Amino acid sequence: MLNFPPDHPARDMQDTFFVTSGNPGSDVLLRTHTSPVQVRVMLDQKPPIRVICPGKVYRNEAISSRSYCVFHQLEGLYIDKKVSFADLKATIYSFAKQMFGTDVKLRFRPSFFPFTEPSAEVDVTCYLCGGKGCKVCKKSGWLEIMGCGMVHPNVMRNCGIDPEEWSGYAFGMGVDRTVLLRYKIDDIRLLFENDLRMLRQFGA
Ligand SMILES: [Zn+2]
Repeated sequence: MLNFPPDHPARDMQDTFFVTSGNPGSDVLLRTHTSPVQVRVMLDQKPPIRVICPGKVYRNEAISSRSYCVFHQLEGLYIDKKVSFADLKATIYSFAKQMFGTDVKLRFRPSFFPFTEPSAEVDVTCYLCGGKGCKVCKKSGWLEIMGCGMVHPNVMRNCGIDPEEWSGYAFGMGVDRTVLLRYKIDDIRLLFENDLRMLRQFGA
């Protein structure tokens, strides 16, 4: 439904965990992103559509200060008549200014996702070095905060929505990584360890 051909290498970006139920043909897959929620909404509702879908997602990743095997994603989908990439950019600028402060600079990098075309990844200026380049941003001065793009016509067709009549954008971000940026925390694992010294800083 999200326009991933069965043998497409983009599937490798999202290696995940499978749970064996014991019954042939009924193995359970732990989702790697919240985009399937978009499909369910598009199958269920007629446009115009505006949704925010938060949820837990799982990836079979090497655990490090930047990556964890479970995290939270937040995704947005907007479908209406004449929705453009300019609308997407304005929405993300508005979000970033409220989340990271009015001084934040953004960069849109062309990228690839099977379910959007064109696609972009969005970077913000590094919170530690302010864009000069440091260890956290790997000397680039930028940190990635989300992926986004215009909903691919194939995805709309798969969900019974006419891409000649409607257009839309989608974006998805890691909530945990956004928290790290906002509160200048340098290790994602601290969010999952329930250390009281950590939790008490947030009013717990
Ligand atoms: Zn930096």
